[in-house]
Amino acid sequence: MALVLELEHLVKHYGNIHALKGVTLQIPAGTVYGILGPNGSGKTTMLGLIMNILQPTSGSIRLFGETPSASHRRKIGTLLETPNFYHYLSAVQNLRIAAAIKGIHQPDIDGVLQRVNLLARKDSPFSTYSLGMKQRLAIASCLLGDPQVMVFDEPTNGLDPVGIAEIRDLIKKLATEGKTIIMASHLLDEVEKVCTHVAILKKGELIASGHVDEILAHDDIVEVGAADPGRLLEVLRTMPGQTGVHAGEGDKATIHFAPGTADLATLNHHCFVHGVLLNHLQQKKKSLESKFIELTN
Ligand code: ADP
Ligand code: MG
Repeated sequence: MALVLELEHLVKHYGNIHALKGVTLQIPAGTVYGILGPNGSGKTTMLGLIMNILQPTSGSIRLFGETPSASHRRKIGTLLETPNFYHYLSAVQNLRIAAAIKGIHQPDIDGVLQRVNLLARKDSPFSTYSLGMKQRLAIASCLLGDPQVMVFDEPTNGLDPVGIAEIRDLIKKLATEGKTIIMASHLLDEVEKVCTHVAILKKGELIASGHVDEILAHDDIVEVGAADPGRLLEVLRTMPGQTGVHAGEGDKATIHFAPGTADLATLNHHCFVHGVLLNHLQQKKKSLESKFIELTN
């Protein structure tokens, strides 16, 4: 698959703050690539470097397989900070101005408003919009010129749950149109819902990257209990396919398996044939939050 973006040992220092410490990453075309990390991990810095708003301390960036130029960057729609729309002007008037600034001669303003579901309110003043509508107008502005690649920094920040859901649906819709979307987020749950791929940043370092399914896969965890917890642990350790056994509270223990491979009947049988009668057998889900904390702590 063609690569939209390549980062090679990208380093960014602000004075003695090392915001990015040598990040190497490849983003294939057609992906929704989440840059996931807690606040201060370097996400905005990474997007700023990609869009040439910041200069790297060292390392390099390639766009569409080439050394980046202004023409490459014009092919990318960006939403890095809340754009300045005129409060007293309508959506249509604001987008006309945005198109003129971008040098787009025959912008399909109704078309982009339709795509972000704002056509019905196109003549209302910007000041009457909800925060979610303002954010969708910002995405409409990105869509002027029909870029194949879009870069969003925390696109749902500050929105209410309905606004968040609308933006996430819109991003998914853009993805089905074949756009490549690179989006920073500090929300694991958002990346899991919206993105196909994820790169996890921790204090300026890339600690994992790849398919969301692989990187954010949860172990299957089964909680079991038996009268003799010591013997239970011994038997659990002999269970084929287990990836970890831990003592739990009281007479309980947990046993981990690779994602999707826990089989309660087989586990119960294994304990039974080794002389352990389970008085408790329950599949647990590891919370996403704990997975993220494990990855970033
Ligand atoms: P994120 O977007 O993941 O929250 P940032 O890229 O904004 O992270 O910040 C990464 C680190 O760089 C933080 O420690 C932040 O304080 C620092 N930083 C960001 N921008 C600047 C700047 N202009 N000057 C100095 N330090 C900065
Ligand atoms: Mg940021």
